[in-house]
Amino acid sequence: MRYLVISDIHANLEAFESVMAAAAPLNYEQILVLGDLVGYGADPNAVCDRVRALAPQALIRGNHDKAGSGVESPEGFNAVARSAIGWTYEALTPDNREWLAALPAGPLVVDDFIEICHGTPFDEDAYVFDDLDALRAMHAARRPLCLFGHTHVQVGHYLSRDQFGLSTADDQRPFTIRLDETNRYLINPGSVGQPRDGDPRAGFAIADTAAREVTLHRVEYPIAKAQARILEEGLPDVLAQRLALGR
Ligand code: ZN
Repeated sequence: MRYLVISDIHANLEAFESVMAAAAPLNYEQILVLGDLVGYGADPNAVCDRVRALAPQALIRGNHDKAGSGVESPEGFNAVARSAIGWTYEALTPDNREWLAALPAGPLVVDDFIEICHGTPFDEDAYVFDDLDALRAMHAARRPLCLFGHTHVQVGHYLSRDQFGLSTADDQRPFTIRLDETNRYLINPGSVGQPRDGDPRAGFAIADTAAREVTLHRVEYPIAKAQARILEEGLPDVLAQRLALGR
């Protein structure tokens, strides 16, 4: 199976549309969505409608989906995120709010080879920041390939019998990670709508279980348009500014 893998769209419709256009010629068969459809960006309803129409094979919630739909209190979020969450809750139609609130928690086993989660396989809200987090996540995963989001950093970790490390040492994109049969992998497709790894382009991945490879992609999108939408809706300025920096 050939999957399009997307995560952390964050209500950025411009980035989402550009990813779908770039992915169209890549012959994917199914879609996997790793959570955080909303929060930060200005178009939560359009993004929810678009995801619903795509009917992904697997779709799990992120922390912003929980807070933005009222499943969880936004108390643990910083002031800017909290303000965007409050705005998102009000902006969502009751139908989209209910749909988001009903999204399943990760981790979720997709097939014999792939498992998806938002944060980690042991805690949907935990971040993979360092080697130790990655190692713990790979040990907890029930499948050889675990796809995750939440950090907004496009990266691949591997674990073999005697070592672990990064499969993505350079910043050349597209970048293909070949999946060795004896290793375990923990791969983040990057964030569609709010990259934080210094590259402002939207991130996504194609995971091919027959070819045993994952390719990381980046695509340019109309950032100025997404920024203008954020300001137009009265969301915090910093949410518009950070899109240009990819931070
Ligand atoms: Zn996120």
